[in-house]
Amino acid sequence: MKEIAASLGLAKVSPGAFGNGVIATKGEILTSTSPITGEALGQVQCADAQSYEQVIKEAQDVFLEWRKVPAPVRGELVRKIGEALRDSKHSLGKLVSAEMGKILPEGEGEIQEAIDIADFAVGLSRQLYGKTMHSERRDHRMYEQWHPLGIVGVITAFNFPAAVWAWNSMIAAVCGDVVLWKPSELTPLTAVAINSVCREVAKDSGFEGVFSLLVGSGPELGQKMSADKRIPLISATGSCRMGRSVAKTVGERLGRCILELGGNNAVTVLPDANLDLVMSGVLFGAVGTAGQRCTSIRRALVDQSIYDTFVERLRSAYKQVRIGNPLEKGILMGPLINEAAVASYRAAIEKAVQEGGEVVFGGKVLSGMPSSLYVEPTIIKAHAGMSLLKEETFAPILYVVPVKDLDEAIHLNNDVPQGLSSSIFTRDLSSTERFLSASGSDCGIANVNMGTSGAEIGGAFGGEKDTGGGREAGSDSWKQYMRRQTSCINFGKDLPLAQGIVFS
Ligand code: NAD
Repeated sequence: MKEIAASLGLAKVSPGAFGNGVIATKGEILTSTSPITGEALGQVQCADAQSYEQVIKEAQDVFLEWRKVPAPVRGELVRKIGEALRDSKHSLGKLVSAEMGKILPEGEGEIQEAIDIADFAVGLSRQLYGKTMHSERRDHRMYEQWHPLGIVGVITAFNFPAAVWAWNSMIAAVCGDVVLWKPSELTPLTAVAINSVCREVAKDSGFEGVFSLLVGSGPELGQKMSADKRIPLISATGSCRMGRSVAKTVGERLGRCILELGGNNAVTVLPDANLDLVMSGVLFGAVGTAGQRCTSIRRALVDQSIYDTFVERLRSAYKQVRIGNPLEKGILMGPLINEAAVASYRAAIEKAVQEGGEVVFGGKVLSGMPSSLYVEPTIIKAHAGMSLLKEETFAPILYVVPVKDLDEAIHLNNDVPQGLSSSIFTRDLSSTERFLSASGSDCGIANVNMGTSGAEIGGAFGGEKDTGGGREAGSDSWKQYMRRQTSCINFGKDLPLAQGIVFS
């Protein structure tokens, strides 16, 4: 596996601070371990206080010039970055899989997502539209325009070590911002490798420092960025616990943040659903990425008339899942990220049983695997009163809850602190519309006849309530990365006041 890192030009100990070039640091050495085998993939020298200051200073300087570059020209740089990512898709995808533990098609899929958002951002660079309004005053014109914001601090989670950075950075770059990335301490090599690809391209245009990077070994670096007034926008992806801390710190200095936090996603299955679709959707949603997606299906709310059939068919589908080294062909599920994740898996199953749940598939940590982090995907027959149903356990555990009708399903779908993704399987138009209506699902994502995970970059991505309310990627998410300015121009000879006020 070390060859993967070497093929991307990663040194034995990679530097962990990049601004307008490599910045010297004397920070601690962080070792990145692959969950697949437990072996060390490489090391990174973390940023220290001095390199932090240097990176911020360089980012500020680069911003002063970058903001003046016409947006379509900024788009041209992003287009070239997309091309470079295309060229390295296979090796970067492999590194994502090796460092995070997801199967290779998903590792490559993350780089594809980065390419897709780059393409999107290129088009966007010619569409940063502002509105023109009719002024109520004679011989006046009013309009709004969007200006670059400054340094965008991007704090990312381990489970999407490439894509989440790309959603933020490609958009921020065409908006005229500079990006400061703080990756998860569990996936620093992916960050160093991706950042190198981008900076190599940006160097040719003289704007290497648009994409800077700081690696830390724990939450401290993210906390420092959150408190730093020189970073007007923090976009943070991770647990609700992290989001609460970031929101408080950024709020205290009246900065802005985009929060993309935990999910607790449910799929509703009605009696008229096409069960073939249901099985494929639930299998990918609950087992894919070993249940370590923010949009993974955690709860299945199944009409009681088809509950037993659903559980039986799902058990058969789970039996087919091949678990093992995610870099091997045909494997559908790799390991969890670390021992803490395995401990949460065990604890959740124990608690579920204590609360009256019944494990009908899986429930065990596997022995004889390449590392101690492989677990069985698990199905638990559950009931609506279980407190565990309100928590996100970042593991492949699915709680199947019987419901008497759509109203109860919608109630349970919404009766959790989080509000990221949801879906319904039905062929009935009224049920579909009810689920999507104002009194239906309260989540940021609501799908029909598909699972809760696997969002496309074209839509705005994010969720409500404890998920943080942020939106990233497509649609008009770009507006958060810019500052809005409303201007009124008087081209007449008088100075009329708004609301007809006479001041003389
Ligand atoms: P985590 O919260 O442990 O860490 C995420 C990032 O935040 C890391 O870079 C970490 O160093 C940093 N961090 C931690 N505490 C911080 C603090 N107090 N201040 C500033 N930064 C801090 O999350 P994780 O285990 O890496 O990722 C899994 C979680 O992320 C899950 O809850 C998952 O649902 C969520 N997630 C959400 C989305 C989304 O778009 N909604 C996407 C991916 C993951």
